[in-house]
Amino acid sequence: VTRAHVVIVGAGFGGISAARALRGANADVLVVDRRNYHLFQPLLYQVASGLLDPSEIAQPVRTLLRHQRNADVRMNEVRAIDLERRVVRTDAGDLPYDHLIVAAGAVTNHFGNRDIAAHTLALKGLNDALTLRGEVLERFERAAECADERERRRLLTFVIAGAGPTGVEFAGALCELFSHLLPKDFPRLDFAPVRVILIEGRNRVLEAFRPRLAAKAEEVLRRRGVEMVFGRRVVGADERGIRLDDGTRIESATVIWTAGVRASWLGEQLTEKVGRLGRVAVRPTLQLAGHDEVQVIGDMAELGDRGEVLPMLAPVAIQQGEHAGRNVIAQLGGGAATPFRYRDKGTMATVGRNHAVVQLGPIRLSGFIGWLMWLFVHLLYIITFRSKAVVLLNWAWNYIFYDRPARLITEISPDIGTDTSNEEATR
Ligand SMILES: Cc1cc2nc3c(=O)[nH]c(=O)nc-3n(C[C@H](O)[C@H](O)[C@H](O)COP(=O)(O)OP(=O)(O)OC[C@H]3O[C@@H](n4cnc5c(N)ncnc54)[C@H](O)[C@@H]3O)c2cc1C
Repeated sequence: VTRAHVVIVGAGFGGISAARALRGANADVLVVDRRNYHLFQPLLYQVASGLLDPSEIAQPVRTLLRHQRNADVRMNEVRAIDLERRVVRTDAGDLPYDHLIVAAGAVTNHFGNRDIAAHTLALKGLNDALTLRGEVLERFERAAECADERERRRLLTFVIAGAGPTGVEFAGALCELFSHLLPKDFPRLDFAPVRVILIEGRNRVLEAFRPRLAAKAEEVLRRRGVEMVFGRRVVGADERGIRLDDGTRIESATVIWTAGVRASWLGEQLTEKVGRLGRVAVRPTLQLAGHDEVQVIGDMAELGDRGEVLPMLAPVAIQQGEHAGRNVIAQLGGGAATPFRYRDKGTMATVGRNHAVVQLGPIRLSGFIGWLMWLFVHLLYIITFRSKAVVLLNWAWNYIFYDRPARLITEISPDIGTDTSNEEATR
């Protein structure tokens, strides 16, 4: 009897938890990812702001699955999925499957604006974070040698577009870097012109949070020196800066785009009609309509039938991964897939040192207690013990000495896979 082949596309939160749920299943599990590592995206901004090193938030997929005897790993780019022939097409050939779990996550969404894509920096992958870290530090090197005052101001103006958790967390981290650390590295540079500007199309930060918590976060950000512009969208970008929808221009050498993500373009391979933000409307069981052998999970999936759209969050992907694995096991045993139920783990965002906002069912926390909870939960989810220990050590070091030791400028190209680059690739 030949064993069933289960192919999992993506080794992110969803893919890894699906693979682990299939431990011991009577099937060969193959995890395919274009990268050789699993990335803990919630702490990416700490790499971008010089606090953590890449290996602390990313682990080789092969290491994570090395004790799972029925699992194998491929580092390949998935280019297409042929649902009729049941094969995943990669840059290194076809991978046949009996069961497929698609967990390719999301990409930065520039809403198709090529100028914005070309002149802003993203924060989605490890290379993005390292690029961003290098660019931010490089601006200070240039400013230190710049005689022209206007240009120095431009170099020292940092714009963040999008005040969701990523924008807010990065703004807080930049302020800490600029107020405590870089003045020591650049004692002769005047820091008065340094600006961090957060731009948000809606009328407040952290739209997913209760207004009261968001207001607290805003207050802390303002106190720490972040300027906030609400009700305005960035509609254009060039080498000199950005343009807002009311015509205002902001001269800035560094614009960070955290205004949105959209599901991987692989979704378009699975259905002709993708939902909002490119997500695939799956059945309550996570299965693709008309294809019991295919499940779509995590950022790529949009639950359709119950009218419920789950947020693009790590706990959703993790729980769906576990569920998808269990569904495959049930199907292998001759049973049927069961509907997925999400256990809400709440949301949280830190605004920097000593302050985070937490929303967990009826519980709402902010300030120091929220921050401790944020630290605890993030530490809990970091995948290996070694990373937990090193991250904790780095946090403690930073807390006591205000130090962000990973302040290296390295030559890196940003991650592939933004909305505009994929659009070109699939043409
Ligand atoms: C900066 C940032 C901060 C975040 N902070 C939080 C937070 O604090 N809390 C929270 O709950 N969530 C947070 N999220 C969201 C969370 O990371 C995602 O919801 C989660 O990662 C989704 O899991 P996934 O398995 O669907 O996709 P991912 O974890 O993104 O994994 C997708 C995988 O698929 C691979 N892949 C994609 N396309 C291909 C291809 N064509 N071929 C081969 N491989 C491919 C990718 O390399 C990747 O490894 C954050 C996201 C970002 C970007």
